[in-house]
Amino acid sequence: MVLTPFHYPLAYLINKVSGNKLKLDYVTLSVFLPDIEIPILFLLGYYPYRLILHSIIGSLVFSFPTLLLLWPIYRFFILETLGIEVRLDNMYNVFIGSVIGSLSHVFLDALHHDYNPLLWPFSLQSIDAIVLFNNWRLASEILNFVFLVITLILFLDTFNKKKSLIETIRSMISS
Ligand SMILES: [Zn+2]
Repeated sequence: MVLTPFHYPLAYLINKVSGNKLKLDYVTLSVFLPDIEIPILFLLGYYPYRLILHSIIGSLVFSFPTLLLLWPIYRFFILETLGIEVRLDNMYNVFIGSVIGSLSHVFLDALHHDYNPLLWPFSLQSIDAIVLFNNWRLASEILNFVFLVITLILFLDTFNKKKSLIETIRSMISS
């Protein structure tokens, strides 16, 4: 599977395509967002661990409230630690960014996971129509490698300009 941090290129892409209207500050959190349910469902003893936020309706309905719920923690532990001051002032854009970010994660996952509950809550059946090569293991290895390399390229490119690790991370997750 594409490890959670390597979903980052999706945030970069959404930010660029939107002409920086959808800010990296919250879009970055949004592309990681669906995986927050994995430890929660695990702790609740519920299986499968990828369910509500990994569905289309779940993403549409819950990504924005989940983002708002997590935002103070994200701001305190990540953004403020890095010296980034952000206010969520355009709530319409935050809403759009959280939905697109979260859905992009769901669709990337659906390309290479063995269980894809895209139609929850109507069906728990796995929708595997877009699993690449009809082989989720192979798709998983390829996509994990591709997204790792893209994340690395984006990191090195930014590091080349910023010359400092903190400045690089700051610039990658904030716009
Ligand atoms: Zn996921």
